[in-house]
Amino acid sequence: MSGGDMLDFEIRPNPTPVSAVERAALLAAPGFGRVFTDHMVTIRYAEGKGWYDARVEARGPIPMDPASAVLHYAQEIFEGLKAYRLADGSITMFRPEANAARFVDSARRMAMPELPPELFVDSLRRLVDIDRDWIPEGDGASLYLRPFMIASEVFLGVRPSNEYLYVVIASPAGSYFSGGVKPVTVWVSPDYTRAAPGGTGAAKCGGNYAASLAAQAEAIEAGCDQVVFLDAVERRYVDELGGMNVFFVYDDDTLVTPPLTGTILPGITRDALLTLAAEAGHRVEERPVSFADWEADAASGRLREAFACGTAAVITPIGRVKYPDGEFLVADGGQGPVTTALQQRLVDIQRGRAADEHGWVTRL
Ligand SMILES: *Cc1c(COP(=O)(O)O)cnc(C)c1O
Repeated sequence: MSGGDMLDFEIRPNPTPVSAVERAALLAAPGFGRVFTDHMVTIRYAEGKGWYDARVEARGPIPMDPASAVLHYAQEIFEGLKAYRLADGSITMFRPEANAARFVDSARRMAMPELPPELFVDSLRRLVDIDRDWIPEGDGASLYLRPFMIASEVFLGVRPSNEYLYVVIASPAGSYFSGGVKPVTVWVSPDYTRAAPGGTGAAKCGGNYAASLAAQAEAIEAGCDQVVFLDAVERRYVDELGGMNVFFVYDDDTLVTPPLTGTILPGITRDALLTLAAEAGHRVEERPVSFADWEADAASGRLREAFACGTAAVITPIGRVKYPDGEFLVADGGQGPVTTALQQRLVDIQRGRAADEHGWVTRL
């Protein structure tokens, strides 16, 4: 069966779930990406057959042949979004259909089959529903959902795989806001780029992350938190961080973020912030920002704030910028008022404390 809405899930509850006592202990301080829930979703795909065998089952290892295509040629894509427990006890997700659409775009770029968006959203609902007790309480806490797809055909030839496995796992995540987000120092890599025109920069694929790790290691080596990538052609313009988009706030109340020209991941947080900033009365522009201008505008005081954004940490202020020949501060290196206001506004919508005027919040 290939029609997404026609595919029914077989539910096989985990016969040995984590006990309530143990779960409570794990949820007290889950950190990020280390604790996992009792279940996972799996759906298979075969050329000529379409999507089949949709299941909610006990989370566990995926049996894999060593010649599975993904292990050799990295045909893999993923998504990341969160489920929240609101103050009234209801459970929501933020714009899951936007993740579904991006998953389709990523699949196309990586020559993978398109998972019907309604099947994608349904798979998330099923997993959150069965593992709802794993959604941590507390401001900023959430259940991080990680849908991904891998090429599973056992074949070493170089061509798109004929078989795929789609999986969703879930991981409780602690608050990022306890004590506020500390501004980060970013490293401008002199050696590495993230994405070239015509490449896979706009696809959410593991390969992009693999390629960014040496640059990230260089950033840590230089005493920085994150790497910021410049464009691969001229090495002049700011693209984005390894896993977050970037915004600049100027003294004339303009917010600027680099345009989506194919080398930048189209972030859903980025998209939401463009809307919210315009609503808050800021002028918003999607245009290239050169690194030279970033430094000059920081020096002149024209640049008031800079921040990175993405689902995992929502908004992270950028306080300091380092490169091989020097470094500079953005304003006083702390978190600015526009950053704070936008973060508050977005989180209030996500948490159901502000009206959802854009239909971004999906209730379970
Ligand atoms: C996922 C991701 C982002 C942020 O996207 P969101 O939809 O806001 O989470 C930004 N850059 C890269 C490279 C990413 O992989």
